[in-house]
Order: sequence, then C-alpha cells, then structure tokens
Amino acid sequence: MTIEPPPWRATVLTLFPEMFPGPLGISLAGKALASGLWALEPRDIRASATDKHRSVDDTPAGGGPGMVLRADVLAAAIDAADAQDRPRLVMSPRGRPLTQARVAELVAGPGPLIVCGRFEGIDQRVIDARGLEEVSIGDYVLSGGEIAAMTLIDACVRLLPGVMGKLVSGTDESFSDGLLEYPQYTRPQTFEGREIPDVLISGDHARVAKWRLAEAEALTAARRPDLWAVRPKVPESGKKRKPLKITTGE
Ligand code: SAH
Repeated sequence: MTIEPPPWRATVLTLFPEMFPGPLGISLAGKALASGLWALEPRDIRASATDKHRSVDDTPAGGGPGMVLRADVLAAAIDAADAQDRPRLVMSPRGRPLTQARVAELVAGPGPLIVCGRFEGIDQRVIDARGLEEVSIGDYVLSGGEIAAMTLIDACVRLLPGVMGKLVSGTDESFSDGLLEYPQYTRPQTFEGREIPDVLISGDHARVAKWRLAEAEALTAARRPDLWAVRPKVPESGKKRKPLKITTGE
C-alpha cells in the first residue's frame, strides 16, 4: 500500500466563505478539485468572534472612515486553521505584487493559508504577530480579498501536476522565461482577410520556434520594458538580444 501525500491545499480565511469555490469550482480547476488533486478549505472568520454580537471589526484608531478587522478575532481564526508549517499570506494592495515566480514557489509547497481583508483593512498587529506575507494582485483597490485570493489560487492550481495535462508545460508561457507569450492562431486559415503567418503552417519546427521567440521578444520589449530590462540572458550565446520590430500581420 502506498501512502499518498496530502494534496496541495488552500485554506482561506474570509467573512464570506459562501463565495468559494465560486469560479474555482468550474472547468479545469473545478474538475481537479472534485477529483482530489487539490483541496480548498474556506473558513469563516466570524466563527472566531467571541462577543455576543459576533463582531469582527471596529472603528479605526485615530479616526477616519470605515471599519478595521480586529486583531484578536483574526489571530484566533489563524491559530485554529492548522497552518503553522505553511506559507501564511494576507491579500493586500500594499503587498508585494504577485509574480509567476512566487506562484511557482507556492505550488511547490503544501499550499498556503490566505487571509482575505474587508472594509478598510486589517489591524496591523495581527499581520506582524502572525508573520503574514502581504500579497497584492495589482495596483488597484478591490472591495475585499476574496477575488484576489481566487486569482492567486487559480494561478497556482493550473500548475499542479495533472490539472492541465499536456496543455501547460509551465515553461512556454508568459513570464515563465521572462518574456510575454508569442501570438497564437488556429483555424480557419483566413479570417476577415487575415492569414495565419506562413511560418506556422510550414511544418518546420525550428523555424516556428525561432519565429515565436522573436515575436515574444518584440512584444516584451514593446509592451513591458520593465520585464525586458531584467530578462534572463541566453547563456550559450552571451549576446544581448536586440528588440525586434513587432509584426502586425498587415
Ligand atoms: N484601505 C486599504 C484597502 C482595503 S480594501 C488600503 O488603502 O490599502 C479591502 C481588502 O481588499 C483588503 O484588506 C485586501 O484584503 C483586499 N484587496 C483590495 N485590493 C487588493 C489588491 N490589489 N490585491 C490584493 N488584495 C486586495
């Protein structure tokens, strides 16, 4: 008898557990969830409230609008969640922006505990006391951390072994090699007078690979100078890649 390791698991602390699995229950992530390739554990923060009103928030110290999630209630919820040896994240617009590299690290581990904020945010003392890693999904403000947590979980789950089968190698996608992905095409051969580029129907795999790399480089240089500036250099040539002109297909 072989003992299977426990599947990759995401524990989500939220005031709205009914939002889960939501979109994570659909399509490939949903099928993988149903078949036990990963596990999702939404937990209601309110279950850790202790007063008779089950209050989870209070007005901000120092004044100002809105409400702040209480440190004591959230700490109790975190401590009850059995996540001492797992990454413990809190979704936050002030956090370090999520990257494909961080996603890959999270996939390699047992799976994170993720705290979802609401209202004006979370009492700083629980973030400090429980060593929560603040993670942002972008420079804009959502009304709560749930959609941000779903974004992070979705990005992780699709990389788990067996979830996407051969569809994704994790090596040929945007960001995996520091480049945005080349353009994709499929039938029909002609769409509103626009053809699939000849090279892609040539059957010459080496030429296809060269074309794709050139397109990926051109797109990255044009759209994301930040990524282009820090891209990994090709080790064997040692030569600096020149940005190429974008082919528009016109
Ligand atoms: N007043 C806070 C924003 C609170 S938004 C501020 O200005 O920083 C409410 C909750 O939504 C946050 O606690 C966080 O959990 C979540 N959230 C909002 N925007 C987010 C983002 N860009 N990335 C990750 N989580 C976000």
